[in-house]
Order: sequence, then structure tokens, then C-alpha cells
Amino acid sequence: MLHNSKPVVTRFAPSPTGFLHLGGYRTALFNYIYARQHNGKMILRIEDTDKTRSKKEYEEDILSSLRWLGIDYDELYRQSDRTEVYTRHIKKLLENRFAYESSEEKEGKEGTVIRFKNPRTTVVFKDLIRGEIHMDTKDLGDFVIARSIDDPLYHLAVVVDDFEMGVTHIIRGEDHISNTPRQILIQEAIGAPRALYAHLPLVLAPDRSKLSKRHGALPVREYQNEGYLPHALINFLALLGWSPQRGGNTEESEIFTAEKLREIFSLDHVQKGGAIFNADKLNWINKEHIKKMPLQDFQSTARKFLSEEITKLPEWSEDRFTRAIPVLADRIEKFGDIRDMEKRGELQYFFEAPKVDINNLVWPKGGTVTATKQHINAIVKLLQDYPKKTFIPEEIKALIWKYAEEHGRGEVLWPMRYALSGKDKSPDPFTLASILGKEETLKRLSFALTATDTPDVSNA
Ligand code: GLU
Repeated sequence: MLHNSKPVVTRFAPSPTGFLHLGGYRTALFNYIYARQHNGKMILRIEDTDKTRSKKEYEEDILSSLRWLGIDYDELYRQSDRTEVYTRHIKKLLENRFAYESSEEKEGKEGTVIRFKNPRTTVVFKDLIRGEIHMDTKDLGDFVIARSIDDPLYHLAVVVDDFEMGVTHIIRGEDHISNTPRQILIQEAIGAPRALYAHLPLVLAPDRSKLSKRHGALPVREYQNEGYLPHALINFLALLGWSPQRGGNTEESEIFTAEKLREIFSLDHVQKGGAIFNADKLNWINKEHIKKMPLQDFQSTARKFLSEEITKLPEWSEDRFTRAIPVLADRIEKFGDIRDMEKRGELQYFFEAPKVDINNLVWPKGGTVTATKQHINAIVKLLQDYPKKTFIPEEIKALIWKYAEEHGRGEVLWPMRYALSGKDKSPDPFTLASILGKEETLKRLSFALTATDTPDVSNA
């Protein structure tokens, strides 16, 4: 009996026994998209029957990570709330002689467990990704389905829940293929209809080993803290085992929003082989999503990664911060990079005039104090004559370029850039000037001039 005509019901069934790895969220995503694509229902089921290993903390982490990713569900269940349902089914299985109590050693003492009477047949099931799978169940023996009438084990609880919750599509990791025959046997014994299966490829490290933190795979919460965009992570997760049908260039086909994903995703195109986790690819995807962000969104997100201190600097203003956005956007892969830039002192000079060290002001590859003084004076003169109040980088460049070509680009532009930033490395001087604005640029250049009044120590 297949569920062909019934509305689609999928479920994501994590066990809260640790921080779920990205493969888990990929499974959640595929369940979510499939349900939404078919106007169906997605169930979140917390499989916390293992009382010693399940922790509330992990459950909360799963819930908040799903929320952050934007993966929502229609119903939420906890297996720990459902003991009566399992007991009812276990009783029935015993009554109908599909299961029996068996005396055996349990934790060093004689006790009973409940075993399933295995008919030892070959189970055949359809997997939407792998086709038909045949599995002989002879060797499984009469497996244990419960420790006692009110203490079900994983297989029993999963099958009962999928049945009671009307699950039509079981989309889960390929590590569950070997569990499927046992679950199908229980399904048949309790009279549950056969669900459709889709076993997703495992997510592996680049060397095809088990994925770990060492390969840059972090709990979702940490991606959030690092300033990845939830949309980018969704995009990345979708590509773990699935790829859009090619057409157009790579960038168009591999970068998509969650809405677009709902249009283009198809379980039929999920690959069988392991999906490789690649941290660089995530950074690239995140950057592509950052590039598409409207300025305002970028600014409000970036703001959250700045410290309070920076907003207390003497020249802090939202306007100036807005003008610095393109520079930031250019340099980051994730918003946490902004926090790191601040820590390295690469943002402060936008909001506070730097100290000027004459030894650094002079072009290190052959400038002199005398020439530096002359060049800064010339730049000041040119900029003063600039007719507009706000600097346009290209226009300032055009204004100064001829002079710089004549007198040596390094000799002219290095001191200008250094005077504005106080750093050996910073954005180009025209960009800096446009961020600082005319008034502040002239102020910083004039201040640098005072440094050139010290006696010339270089061998000019
Ligand atoms: N609770 C199981 C796990 O976390 C998943 C069960 C299932 O999807 O059938 O691995």
C-alpha cells in the first residue's frame, strides 16, 4: 500500500544527544523543501528515548538553529511525551504474537526484553534516490524492540510515530538504510502503510573521512556567531548532495535564495555518492550572498559586529560608516571578519585621526621629507580647488593622477594614503578621502605636514 494520493508529510527526527552536524541540517532542509513544494506538512520530532544521552541543551540548540536558518515545521513532537502510544503498540504486537517477551541478562541481572518475531524474509523497498533496494533480514534474528512494555527502543518508536503521524516520505541520511528492513518489518506487523524512502548521501570531509571540526565543520550556532548569512548557509546545505540542473554560468546556477531553491530543488537530482564538505565553498557562497545585499541590510548587519568602543570614537558617524561600507563589503567573506578587522585596528582610522610618524609618511622606497612636504602641499592645493563638498573617488583620482605621474606615484600617493590612515596597508587614498570627506581629508593632510617640519633625517 503506497501513500500516492495522500498529502505529503515529511519529518525531521533528530536525536538531541549532541550538537547536530551540518549533515543533520541538510536533512532537515530537504524535508522542509519537499514538504513545502508539495503543499504538505513537515514534522519535527525530537527522538529523545535515550534518557541518559538526550539533553535539553541539545534540543534547544536544534530548535534555535532551525529557526535561524528559516526552516520551519508544522508540528513538533517529543518521543519522551509519547510513551503511552508506544506501549499501546507493543501490547498489540505481543497480543498478535508479532513480538514476545524473552528472558535474558540485562545489566548483569536476569530480566525480560521484548523481541520482534522476525519472519526472515527479503524486504524490498523503493528508495527515491537509490532505486529498489533488496535486503535479506534472516541474519537480523529476532531483534529487540523494547526494554519493557513502556520502554521502547529506536526502531519501534520511529515506526509507530511515522505511522501515527501519517508520514508519507522518510527523507534521512544513508546511515539509516541498514535500519530500514527492520523498520519495514515492524510497519507490516502494526499494519502501517509503506512510506517512500529517500536516503541522502553522507556529508564527508574533503578526504572522504568522517566530517569533523578539524575540517571547519561547526555547529550552526557558530556559523551564526561568525556572521554567515542564514540564506548562504541554506544555499550551501542544499548543495551537499544535490545540484541544480546546469544552464547558464556556474555563478547563476549555484547561488540561489531559499525561495528560488523551493522552485528548483528536486529529490530526483540528489546524488548517491557522498557529499563533500568544503569550507572554502561556504565562504565563497556567503560572499556571493553578501554582494547581493542591499546597502541598508549590509550596514545594519555589519553594525552588530562592531564594538561599542568604535562608535565612541571622536569622528564616528553613521554617515561616515555608510561611506565605508563598500570597502568593508569588498574585504569580508563573513560579517565576523569585520569584528576581526576592528581587532586588528583596521577600522578605527575611519573615525579617528591617526598619529603620523614621519618615518612612515615618507615613501619607503626612496621618498624624501622635502619632496613629501611638497607633494602633500600640492595635493592639498588640488583638493581645495575641488568644487564639490563630497568627494567622488574617481574624480579625486583624476584630479591628482597627473601630478602623481609626473612626480612618481609612490612618492606622491604613499604619503597621501598614510596621512589619511596612519597605516602601511589601507584602501587606496582616493577611496579613503571620499570616506573621510573633504574637510577631514584636508585636516589630516595638514596635520601630516606639521610632521614634515622636523629636520630632514633622510639622505635627500
Ligand atoms: N533519530 C535518528 C537520528 O538522529 C533519525 C531517525 C530517522 O530519521 O528515521 O539519527
